[in-house]
Amino acid sequence: MIILDNHFHVDPFKGLFLEAVKQFHRAGGTHLMVVYKTAHDYGFPGLKAEDFMKAMDFHLELVERINRETPVKAFAVVGVHPAEFVHLAEKKGLEYAKNEVMKALEYAQKLCFEGKAVAIGEIGRPHYEVSEEIWNASIELMKYGMSLAKEADCAVQLHTESFDEAKFRELGEYV
Ligand SMILES: [Zn+2]
Repeated sequence: MIILDNHFHVDPFKGLFLEAVKQFHRAGGTHLMVVYKTAHDYGFPGLKAEDFMKAMDFHLELVERINRETPVKAFAVVGVHPAEFVHLAEKKGLEYAKNEVMKALEYAQKLCFEGKAVAIGEIGRPHYEVSEEIWNASIELMKYGMSLAKEADCAVQLHTESFDEAKFRELGEYV
């Protein structure tokens, strides 16, 4: 029997990392979708597309280690977290941030095409208050991530604020 957790994060610097995976296994878990955290969490500055790409490569290495060193079968999900975009937009400007995040999402798509990752995520929008232009740009990036995923025939993993029926309907329009 397969017991899958479809949204699992690991952090080798401040989390339990492999021990968390082993706990999951002891509780009966067999398969994991390991979702990218942020470039910052992985020790990269998160100021340009290359930082996100390096962080995604780092994430793939974490997933490889899980597969090598634990009995759990792990799959990688890579993307750019909406909070990373917000942070970058506030620091370096909206257009710059959008451009860098789009390039990074294209890299995430490449990793899916190559079979190194199974989904693009987390993408979406912040769960906290931001300016209207950052909010709208986050939605545009979410849609861009969805279109890249469609091309690569892979899933997306979304990060959003709390949802109700109206928001699910809004999301349905984007999909
Ligand atoms: Zn998450």
